[in-house]
Amino acid sequence: MQQGDMMYEGKAKQVFATDDPTLAIIHYKDDATAFNGLKKGTIIGKGVVNNLVSNHLFGVLAQHGIESHFVRQLNERDTLVRRVAIVPVEVIVRNIAAGSLSKRIGYPEGTRLRSTVLEYCYKDDELGDPMINDTHIAAMGLATKEEMDQIAALALKVNDILTAYLARLNLSLIDFKLEFGRFEGRIVLADEISPDTCRFWDARTNEKLDKDRFRRDLGDVEEAYQEILRRLMGGVQ
Ligand code: UDP
Repeated sequence: MQQGDMMYEGKAKQVFATDDPTLAIIHYKDDATAFNGLKKGTIIGKGVVNNLVSNHLFGVLAQHGIESHFVRQLNERDTLVRRVAIVPVEVIVRNIAAGSLSKRIGYPEGTRLRSTVLEYCYKDDELGDPMINDTHIAAMGLATKEEMDQIAALALKVNDILTAYLARLNLSLIDFKLEFGRFEGRIVLADEISPDTCRFWDARTNEKLDKDRFRRDLGDVEEAYQEILRRLMGGVQ
């Protein structure tokens, strides 16, 4: 497998072409941003944690029949993935109110929601990823109704699987963001599932073990990322 040109550089990742047009390599960086790029920093070792955590969780999901872009891990920071056409809609799944939802509906952080909330955001950095609904998605031609039905069903299934899996590691899955891609006519899970894209709280203490430690200057940022990796890799529970 030969690494080719960089196709894309985002805030936390680089994506490279390979000599196989159906495959790409994701490289995870330690760079961190928040508030639409207004806050910038480095979380040492984050790239390694996000690569290993994401691949591990894609593996858990695969065991439950959820297909993703994951092919194989190349090293601590690089992973081979299938080259998919990303649907430009971020899917946010929420079990417990936090972050922007707490602000919007006035529920204190930590309030359990009566049922799972799904939100969609238009993936556009210049616009600040605005929230949209199914009718915007249809009107903008971002995805078909059938694709959105599949995406919503997959997002809820991912939530059920990960919530149960993480509970065994004493982690509460508060909310998370997913991205999907089109691959050979199917919708598959893509991007990453990591402490950058999920809120993970310790189930006993409600300590935040995710990117909120960086966003809110809570300290022990690196330690929180390492703790997630440690629990997933079968450390002390
Ligand atoms: N999220 C993300 N990327 C984004 C926006 C949100 O990964 O561009 C994740 C975030 O880490 C959290 C969930 O989606 O787990 C919900 O985020 P929220 O809408 O509360 O926004 P935030 O408060 O993080 O700005």
